[in-house]
Amino acid sequence: MKFETETEIPVSDPVRLMSVFMTHIEEEHDLRFDQEKDGARSLEQDGFLIRFKPAPQGLYIRIAGPSESAFVFFKEEISEIVKEIDRTAAVNIRWSKELSETGKLPPNFKVLTLKESVCLFEGMQRLTLTHEDIRHFVSEDVHVRMMMPADPRRSAVWPRMGANGAPVWPRGEDKLHARFVTLRSVREAECEVDVDIACHDGGLVSDWALQAKPGQTVGMMGPIGSARLKFSQNLFLAADGTGLGMIARLLETAPDEATGNVVVAVPADFDVTAYFPKTRLNIITVDPEKFEQEVFDVAVDLTAPGKTGYAFFAGEFQNAQELRKMFKGRLGLDKNTQLSTAYWRRGVPGHGS
Ligand SMILES: Cc1cc2nc3c(=O)[nH]c(=O)nc-3n(C[C@H](O)[C@H](O)[C@H](O)COP(=O)(O)OP(=O)(O)OC[C@H]3O[C@@H](n4cnc5c(N)ncnc54)[C@H](O)[C@@H]3O)c2cc1C
Repeated sequence: MKFETETEIPVSDPVRLMSVFMTHIEEEHDLRFDQEKDGARSLEQDGFLIRFKPAPQGLYIRIAGPSESAFVFFKEEISEIVKEIDRTAAVNIRWSKELSETGKLPPNFKVLTLKESVCLFEGMQRLTLTHEDIRHFVSEDVHVRMMMPADPRRSAVWPRMGANGAPVWPRGEDKLHARFVTLRSVREAECEVDVDIACHDGGLVSDWALQAKPGQTVGMMGPIGSARLKFSQNLFLAADGTGLGMIARLLETAPDEATGNVVVAVPADFDVTAYFPKTRLNIITVDPEKFEQEVFDVAVDLTAPGKTGYAFFAGEFQNAQELRKMFKGRLGLDKNTQLSTAYWRRGVPGHGS
């Protein structure tokens, strides 16, 4: 683990705060903390470690991991949770080895310029965005928060760092609309990234993808969230349009001998083999219009208890819930061998962002 930082949050009831943290993280991220002998609780996932321990003056927290960019997200989440209990304590959090400068743009933030927006197939738009320095997007982590003014008529006011290590977001008329997307490709030498946006009615990110003209700008904060496949045999990977880029990034890390099935929401006439890196996995396409209704049955057909080595899903909330239950129950997979994540939720703007 390359980076680490720690803090002690001065609260009168650290055990309560620790329990609030654990409940939040376990429910939001479907993860479980281990209990240590000294009363501390810790969680290790994707190379990151978070450890809570009640201390005489408050709650001690240590974070360690391979990517500094992710720390900005963790610190923001931590400050938001503390805020619910004690506003002053949240503002007064101070982390060791803090690299961000108060009042400056977040260290993992860039304003990118649209180079081109191309339709990959109906309902899927590829945005190619540029910035002179995209070094920090070259990473095993692949998701970024893409952001723009919530009122498209206004000029963007970007977040600035607070002394507590969390970004301070503009409010009121300057409010930003921020949503997670996946970096499908990062070409450092060309100073370009691609993101593929599944377009739909009533979303600002979707509207931007369809309407923005070359030269227009968006903010991007990240990356966070690893796309490294740790398994190679009998894989089951599925996603609707929102997870198409993620499946491509996962396949990029798969060894040549990897086997299994990939199920994606793309039209039958789209050249999906050209979209994905070369792979031995079978690629099954499902009509995007039918994907939400059909993906569960397709998943049951293509997986088997004791056989499926790893299962992944990214897409709509209801699908993600049902598939997680199936991966854990019927297939007997655990937090290390399955991941089913809601990338969006029907009728709920900004779910998961
Ligand atoms: C880790 C992560 C990675 C993601 N990567 C990508 C990506 O690479 N590409 C991508 O397109 N999306 C991706 N998403 C999903 C994306 O963040 C959501 O779809 C987001 O809601 C889009 O923002 P919006 O402004 O268009 O709509 P919002 O303002 O969030 O929502 C407006 C309305 O649109 C609905 N809606 C949202 N998304 C969809 C959809 N796909 N189809 C139909 N209705 C929808 C909502 O339910 C809501 O009613 C990712 C999400 C996560 C958590």
